[in-house]
Amino acid sequence: MQKADLLICGGIILTLDEQDSVIDPGDIAIRGDTILDIGPNLSDKYQASTLLEAKGHLVMPGLINAHTHAAMTLFRGLADDLALMDWLKNYIFPAEARFMSPEHVYLGTMLACLEMIKSGTTTLSDAYFFEPEAARAANDAGLRAVVAQGIIDFPSPDAPDPKESLRLAEEFICQWKWSDRISPAIFCHSAYTCSPQTIQKAKRMAERHAVPFGLHLAETQQEVQEIVHRYGKRPVQHLADLGVLDETVMAIHCVWLDQREIDLLQELQVKVVHVPESNMKLASGIASIPRLLERGITVGLGTDGCASNNDLDMFREMDTAAKLHKVFSQDPTALKARQLVRMATREGAAVLGQGHRIGSLEVGKKADLIILDLQKPHLLPVYNFYSHLVYTFSGADVDSVIVNGALLMRNRKVLHLEEEKLIERIVDLSRQIQGQMRGR
Ligand SMILES: [Zn+2]
Repeated sequence: MQKADLLICGGIILTLDEQDSVIDPGDIAIRGDTILDIGPNLSDKYQASTLLEAKGHLVMPGLINAHTHAAMTLFRGLADDLALMDWLKNYIFPAEARFMSPEHVYLGTMLACLEMIKSGTTTLSDAYFFEPEAARAANDAGLRAVVAQGIIDFPSPDAPDPKESLRLAEEFICQWKWSDRISPAIFCHSAYTCSPQTIQKAKRMAERHAVPFGLHLAETQQEVQEIVHRYGKRPVQHLADLGVLDETVMAIHCVWLDQREIDLLQELQVKVVHVPESNMKLASGIASIPRLLERGITVGLGTDGCASNNDLDMFREMDTAAKLHKVFSQDPTALKARQLVRMATREGAAVLGQGHRIGSLEVGKKADLIILDLQKPHLLPVYNFYSHLVYTFSGADVDSVIVNGALLMRNRKVLHLEEEKLIERIVDLSRQIQGQMRGR
């Protein structure tokens, strides 16, 4: 008998490997942070210190939220039903200036991590201010994360002098570069809030340190008009001419693209993140995701920040994305459930430059997986697992969560975070925020 740390037994395993293999019933042996073996009857082969019985459960890779601003959970529901620029300039930017301190970024990110663990997300890609605190929270929560220091050309909570933001980003990268679970990155807010020089400097820094580079791109028509007005060309062309688009770039939104811009994204192998609920809530528009997929562009799925969503449940995001593209194209075959599940797992991993480590259940990959209980009235009967994951499940149906080989939640109990204490602190803080926003 070989030794394993954790053995998951008798589940229906959706591997999300290249062939979308399903092993039913199947077992998974984990040693340390890595998947050691997958297949039937592994209990004959391995002796494990922890055994998880998964009969009647679905076992699949943890979901990957490829774009969020985690600490914005603190602003969930603070300002809704507003246009993007009004929302940003008159509510979100002032609230950030007033309330976003290192302590609050830690707390808000921790709340996000708790929500994500409880809804089956094992990896998040975050971009915000005070990112050392966001990284610390994700690390303490046990999640895997790509954490990007935000760069913007006007005073921000952590860089009252915008010239300082690049220095802060470099310090942050150096601080976390060696972590296994937390990968530092750089995120320019957008081409309309960052000058060409800032974007180029940030991208060069990302290249020097071999970390991902992200930015919001072509989110609204107003943004496109602004960039055309300033630079005489559309946003993707503008960035391509700056020499900052390549396969390490995560372009968030990509709602307003013309044919030439789609060609450029494909040629330069830029990765795209689709954030449908945020785009719908802010009425930004509908990204042409089926077209991008047809062109072979890698597309991940994200929730965006909680202030524009207003939750971090990736199951809801998959459901919304599927239905949005069907109704928009008046074609019920547009964006199928299996494509959505791949976007939320292996494609998301590829967007983050981590396709070799996570996103599918395969021997040698990191042990990031979730277990879902199928034995519930609203989930029965089950004919198609992918349809179920997109149209029937919600985050609340996730039973257990494992990240990097560590059990973070079992039977819906989060094991190493003080959930009640955190909730108490958040309720206190939200009362303060509400009081001060009223009196402003
Ligand atoms: Zn965003």
